[in-house]
Amino acid sequence: MTLDPENWGDLRAAGHRMLDEMFDYLAHLRDQPVWREMPPEVRGHFKTGALPQAPQAIDEVYQEFAQYVLPYAGGNLHPAFMGWVQGGGTPAGMLAEMLAGALNANLGGRDHAPVAVEQQVAAWMRQLFRFPDAATGIFVTGTSQANLIAALIARGEALGLASRKSGAGAVKLRAYASAAAHSCIARAMDFAGLGSDALRLIPFDGRQRIDIAALEKTIAADRKTGAAPFMVVATAGTVDVGAIDDLKAVGAVCRAEKLWFHIDGAYGALGMLAEEIAPRLAGIEAADSIALDFHKWGQAPYDAGFILVRDGEKHKAAFATPAAYLRRETRGMAGGDFWPTDYGPDLSRGFRALKVWFTLKTYGAERMGRMIARTCELARYLEKQVRALPELELLAPADLSIVCFRYRASDAANAEIVADLHCSGIAAPSLTTIGGKRAIRCAIFNHRTEERDIDALLEAVLRFGKARA
Ligand SMILES: *Cc1c(COP(=O)(O)O)cnc(C)c1O
Repeated sequence: MTLDPENWGDLRAAGHRMLDEMFDYLAHLRDQPVWREMPPEVRGHFKTGALPQAPQAIDEVYQEFAQYVLPYAGGNLHPAFMGWVQGGGTPAGMLAEMLAGALNANLGGRDHAPVAVEQQVAAWMRQLFRFPDAATGIFVTGTSQANLIAALIARGEALGLASRKSGAGAVKLRAYASAAAHSCIARAMDFAGLGSDALRLIPFDGRQRIDIAALEKTIAADRKTGAAPFMVVATAGTVDVGAIDDLKAVGAVCRAEKLWFHIDGAYGALGMLAEEIAPRLAGIEAADSIALDFHKWGQAPYDAGFILVRDGEKHKAAFATPAAYLRRETRGMAGGDFWPTDYGPDLSRGFRALKVWFTLKTYGAERMGRMIARTCELARYLEKQVRALPELELLAPADLSIVCFRYRASDAANAEIVADLHCSGIAAPSLTTIGGKRAIRCAIFNHRTEERDIDALLEAVLRFGKARA
């Protein structure tokens, strides 16, 4: 009862058509709106219909995809997409996804080349961050998961291995991050069984970097009340404005206080690839663990998060379990010296590594670095234009590749301007709040973005702003 075709020739032709059309799609992104709202007919299309019982030609299924899915995708491939923190993907990444799908590899463990590919990417990350050979790393869905893994390792380190069986007991563990840190860190505390209140949010300075004196004070105050500080999460590239905490200073606090030093580098860690950004990440090499996302600045297709841990033994101690069914043999397929399942919560795992391996090899680290630096240059261009326009007020300058500003009108008008931009398909910034004011937030992560996209955005902001004010 095989699901392979009787006639590979027909399938081959259908496959080639899909591939050609996807190349055309990628080659002409700028001719399309950034985003289209799904009309009721399209929305309704996915809400009706029973479980498909009879088979259908793959061509027909593809036609349905081309008509109902493709035109209404999230927009993050488009050069004028500037919302949230999202990468644009690449043709190399797309092809690697196809190859990974063809291999259908399960990277939980065992002895096969896909695991070796993942470990080669881990070795590259050790080089990039100047981590020791004993450091370990695996792919995960994203930084939300990578931060959780770091919290679990740090929890084990603080409570001892027996706690994996007995739980945290009465110990009141406390973690620290700036108030500008990503919300997934509080969720990680929740998922780790510590409760999200275990995360103490520390005030930040005028550039949204963690206030080191306040951090030290809070740790001392917690110790006085009998709580047990166990980790500090520094952010390299905050979501709102792209601020980088003083990593050296946070590292020094962690060393002095004997706390786990984790860095949320979802956004900024890959700045290490860019000559002009790497110096600003000084201190990252001293972290106990780094979380990062290849699907942001790294431009790999979703999803591709990564966790790198300085002490591989501690990493393994937090996740490995003896299960007879997962017994390691010295020969044959059940061999293999590195089983990723020992380093994270997943057993079955896909071949995320391949798209990153392809991306880094196809474009090369140097070009990736220049692409990253270019997004920052474009942000500075946008900042300069905003400063020059009397209708606009700059709210957060381009620290990395994010600029926040507002049209000089009400908060509600600014929210409407952003919705107008989305619905017109001209550009897609997102909204945030800076210093109590609604801000139009432009995060430039897309390798396709050019000055003309920024010019088009500003022209539209002025036009919609005038109409709304
Ligand atoms: C995007 C982001 C996250 C969340 O990462 P996911 O990959 O979406 O899970 C966490 N922290 C920062 C700073 C981010 O930019």
